[in-house]
Amino acid sequence: MSKYNFTKIEHPSPKTAEERAALMANPGFGKVFSDHMVTIKWSTDKGWHDAQIRAREPFQIDPASSVLHYAQEIFEGMKAYRMADGSLALFRPEENARRFNESAERMAMPEIPEDMFIEAVEALVHTDESWVPGGDGSFYLRPFMFASESFLGVRPANEYIFCVIGSTVGAYFKGGYKTVSVWISQEYTRAAPGGTGAAKCGGNYASSLVATAEAFKNGCDQVVFLDAVERKWVDELGGMNIFFVMDDKTIITPPLGTILPGITRASIMKLARESGYTVSETPYSFDQWKEDAASGKLREAFACGTAAVIAGIGTVKYPEGTFAIGNSGDGEVTSELRSKLVGIQRGTVADTHGWMRTI
Ligand SMILES: *Cc1c(COP(=O)(O)O)cnc(C)c1O
Repeated sequence: MSKYNFTKIEHPSPKTAEERAALMANPGFGKVFSDHMVTIKWSTDKGWHDAQIRAREPFQIDPASSVLHYAQEIFEGMKAYRMADGSLALFRPEENARRFNESAERMAMPEIPEDMFIEAVEALVHTDESWVPGGDGSFYLRPFMFASESFLGVRPANEYIFCVIGSTVGAYFKGGYKTVSVWISQEYTRAAPGGTGAAKCGGNYASSLVATAEAFKNGCDQVVFLDAVERKWVDELGGMNIFFVMDDKTIITPPLGTILPGITRASIMKLARESGYTVSETPYSFDQWKEDAASGKLREAFACGTAAVIAGIGTVKYPEGTFAIGNSGDGEVTSELRSKLVGIQRGTVADTHGWMRTI
């Protein structure tokens, strides 16, 4: 089964069962980390080498490491679930591996064999199995890669580190499901044609945080970006894709190009079509959004991504005003699609597409 033979280095002092239980009791998101990590090095001379599973600990990198200066960094986000029957499974990990390499190509970084990527993720889940919670929780996996070469010249680096860390996470909607409010960013855009919008790179987030801060300041949970050219078409949220549910069994989502090609997005499109909806990947303007919300043609809107899976959008705010979508509550179609997808991920709905990969 194992092809790459990760060298296992014994953890000198893993958390005790009691310490782990205390951390896992109320984990939140992205704060509680498991004991181990996987690291693999890459250099121009040696290619991928030194695959290790070892204690999670700080990196020692040179202050001149190119990532610290020119932000050559990409990442993935995926989850391992404890299924209804007690087994452990990943959701469509080969899609994350494929997208990781697409990001790598865009950022002039080396590609990693897809089976090596998946083996690294599985090795961490195996080793830290006791950190995978049951119930509504999951084990969030963060594979990432950065340029570690110590060099201040401007060119693609010759040395990289690939790493996977894992984090126990609780239910995304603590205290029960609720819709989110979004802020339409007018001043800042996320990605321009020819830019890095479709790559999952840290740099996209760095430049989006000022808009996220603006959304928070205006009392909103998330930010929505419009296109960079006309400032007219809806792109996506800071870290989630977006869908609009119309009154005629049509569902609209912005086309690929400058947005991140979400795996949740692709899965929802498939499930919605199977349920008899017409899904249209077509540009949708903010003006149209306002108009359709007012006329009632727009029934529901929701955001989607690995962390939240599907989050209904209840209210929309922009500098000149605010409006509600539907009754601002959980929409029927949003809830139907969420139940299906979450059911597949938890093993309570038949996985007819072979999306779950048992570890
Ligand atoms: C990761 C990400 C998404 C969601 O992708 P999933 O594969 O569904 O998790 C959407 N937008 C951005 C900007 C992202 O980084």
